[in-house]
Amino acid sequence: MRTELYINGEWRKAASGAHLEVVNPATEERLATVQAAGADDIDAAVRAARSCFESDSWQGTSGRRRGAILSKAADLLEARAQEFAEVETRQNGKPLFESKIDVAQTVDVFRYYAGWADKIGGEIRPVDMGDFVFAERVPVGVVGAIVPWNFPLNLASWKVAPALAAGCTIVLKPAPETPLTALLLGEILGDAGLAVGALNVVPGDGPTAGAALVRHPGVDKISFTGSTATGKLIMREAADTVKRVTLELGGKSPNIIFADADLKAAVRGAQTGIFYGKGEVCAAGSRLLVHRSVHDQVVEELASRAAKLAYGDPFEKSTRIGAIVSKRQHERVMGYIASGKADAKLVVGGSAGSVNGKGYFVEATVFDDTRPGMKIVDEEIFGPVLSVLTFDDVDEAIQLANQTSYGLAAGLWTADIKQAFRVARAIRAGTVWVNTYNLYDPAAPFGGFKQSGFGRDLGREALDGYTESKTVWIGLR
Ligand code: NAD
Repeated sequence: MRTELYINGEWRKAASGAHLEVVNPATEERLATVQAAGADDIDAAVRAARSCFESDSWQGTSGRRRGAILSKAADLLEARAQEFAEVETRQNGKPLFESKIDVAQTVDVFRYYAGWADKIGGEIRPVDMGDFVFAERVPVGVVGAIVPWNFPLNLASWKVAPALAAGCTIVLKPAPETPLTALLLGEILGDAGLAVGALNVVPGDGPTAGAALVRHPGVDKISFTGSTATGKLIMREAADTVKRVTLELGGKSPNIIFADADLKAAVRGAQTGIFYGKGEVCAAGSRLLVHRSVHDQVVEELASRAAKLAYGDPFEKSTRIGAIVSKRQHERVMGYIASGKADAKLVVGGSAGSVNGKGYFVEATVFDDTRPGMKIVDEEIFGPVLSVLTFDDVDEAIQLANQTSYGLAAGLWTADIKQAFRVARAIRAGTVWVNTYNLYDPAAPFGGFKQSGFGRDLGREALDGYTESKTVWIGLR
């Protein structure tokens, strides 16, 4: 297990000697003591990234070679998939089968951007005077990547892979709860032949390490995934140095079941939409909107499925709901459940759990008779808690779906193709899933509308965020 800071291709202790404890949320045992970056370490990491960027040792490497290194990293990760998945499960609490999916998706992300590395170019612009003008995409420079604890490895790859493909260099700050797989990612990219200093990994607290990264004048761009509150702070802080920012923030995504839907599939989709990843998923379908005519059937079926979802040891094959990531998050989720009990009708779940008296577990929880204005309907819980709302017609469904300050994702279930297109078009969200939910692919851009942020991870679009347009004008007259 790597526990030191990864700066300029070396493993180092924090300058201040500070460290942070990583706790296994399923057992409450200390998993690792990791060096915690302070402002001095962030400065060293940014200098390493800056000097790598300016020396041309990474951006001057041909796109094909950069792609080959990313591809090698994917192979190395694939070969160590089991180890990475186990570490992810230990630090995050998610079931092992979910961590294996995360690792497989991370391998895919590296392969996808390996393919892009030699295809980032530009185009000729036909200007009036007949001069030769082209606009090309050039790397934005040093990227500060700040990621949360819910998909620690996967979300890091969403930033690291496209940024490296584009020729940028990076300082990656993982969440203090889950720094271990990010450190291993640094090791793998080093082994794959990445230029020294092109990726630096600096675990640390948000207000110290994260804030130092955001303020550092040597950073050109911040790519952030996390809460909307922190995103707003980052946007303000970044203004002083006019840094580019991409923000992937929270959500309160509606998942709509129309009366004509394949109800079995829809209920399964509602279940995975909120309970996969313990609900600690930014795109979780945490508001289930159900047509009145099928409401009772849907809620009954969903409740019976939710009651069977076992929480417990994330390494047990039968476990479907792992441990909530931390004590603090567990308390937050239980606070929302208490407010739900006061405001709405508890259908199933609603209790905290433990295994052998330990662990931060929460039962799969469903509230019915909920409506806008309730905390459990308006606010992101980031836990396995679903709020069911009822609608009478398609216009009301659209209105309820959009009645949120967020706009990350949405789902809808219907057999009517016109209705599917109409509603998908009317919903203000970055991704709308139709007759499916929670699917991701490196080729499909992902990000938010409204207070869910701006800029996109994944797809060709992510590369736009790690490049700038440069116009070169050659006078021919
Ligand atoms: P958070 O905002 O508290 O922390 C996210 C990251 O930001 C962590 O690395 C943290 O250390 C850092 N940070 C905290 N304060 C900072 C500061 N002042 N300056 C710089 N960095 C700082 O969020 P969280 O509670 O760890 O994560 C959960 C949130 O992330 C949820 O709201 C969820 O919706 C969101 N999320 C969004 C997406 C997406 O793609 N849109 C994906 C996953 C999670």
